[in-house]
Amino acid sequence: MNIHTKAVHAGDRKKQGDHIPVTTPIYTASSFVYEDIETTDKVFAQEVEGYAYARYDNPTNHALEELCTALEGGHGSLACATGMAALEMAIRTALIDRRKKVVAASALYGATMNLLTKVLEPFGIETTFVDICDVDRVAAVIAEERPGVVLMETISNPLLRVGPIDLIAAMTKESGAALIVDNTFATPMLVRPLELGANMSVHSLTKYLAGHGDVMGGLIVSDEGHYEALRTLSRTYGPTLGPFEAYLSMRGIKTFPLRMERQCRNAVEVAAFLRGHPRVAKVNFLDDREHPDASTIQRLLPSGLFGAMISFEIAGAGREEVFVFMNRLQMIVKATSLGDVHSMILYPAMSSHRDLAPKQRERLGIRDSLVRLSVGIEDAADICEDLEQAL
Ligand SMILES: *Cc1c(COP(=O)(O)O)cnc(C)c1O
Repeated sequence: MNIHTKAVHAGDRKKQGDHIPVTTPIYTASSFVYEDIETTDKVFAQEVEGYAYARYDNPTNHALEELCTALEGGHGSLACATGMAALEMAIRTALIDRRKKVVAASALYGATMNLLTKVLEPFGIETTFVDICDVDRVAAVIAEERPGVVLMETISNPLLRVGPIDLIAAMTKESGAALIVDNTFATPMLVRPLELGANMSVHSLTKYLAGHGDVMGGLIVSDEGHYEALRTLSRTYGPTLGPFEAYLSMRGIKTFPLRMERQCRNAVEVAAFLRGHPRVAKVNFLDDREHPDASTIQRLLPSGLFGAMISFEIAGAGREEVFVFMNRLQMIVKATSLGDVHSMILYPAMSSHRDLAPKQRERLGIRDSLVRLSVGIEDAADICEDLEQAL
């Protein structure tokens, strides 16, 4: 089935007594009972399928999880309160029976960097960072460090590099490590990491999947080998997504493929506009034939879909000039987050990469003239017009 069809059908319309609700209701119950205590006992023992306690599972979350499993082609999913909670759950699950060592892409979402260095490292889980697009280097680091987990993002933030998930997955498997891919920027519309050999694919539901700037959530799609351990850990750890958020996410996902197609199409137009603008020094976007990862993009992404994230440098601009530009924007929302229906702009030096020293940012290629744009579903001409009058 096509992703547009799955988005509106998977997970929903489970029979309830004598009727079938067309959309899954919000189950706020914290616990569930059965006609007789013997059945309740069996559900608790996980001998028969059913719901016992909402930290373990509830029907609203279950529907969302089934939907996301269908979209990404995995064995099962776990919905979490945030993308960050999902990432931590995925890493901890993979490390249960592996060496407590992580090899991670050096270009990662800021909070993920903090998760590795400030949350996991004090508990003895160390991370070695590597340029994930440099396959030979990744092979050398895996051989040297013998990690339990390799962690990467499908499309990096904010420079939009694309690592060869398929090649990294082969190396990771060979070494006995698990590959976890943060697929938030790419979404299942562009890349399905499990089909390329990854063990777990993680999403911030907050972004493209929910897509309306009104819900926080995270999700892990797992292969068969990690699914039971993931759920067992979650039953105790309790990173559970609330049922209202699960409902909002599911409602959002029904139009996610439509929105994403439109956002991808808009982004191609906006990138072309920016490339032609005299005040723009550089545009990072996946449709660029000169993109450093052009061959990986061609191999892994469907033709014509390049995501909807763009970053660009304003010629000769420093913090002050970038602020003037951002203040002039009338429509594009100047807020952190991405993937919403409305276009959003963010200044990495102020937000996601604020904690880094200017020299460190420079080394990563994140200059003070760089801004990041999440292209929304508005009319592309209106987005370009807003940029034009502000540049
Ligand atoms: C937003 C984001 C996260 C974290 O998700 P939250 O829902 O904010 O916790 C992780 N990775 C990427 C790539 C993100 O964009």
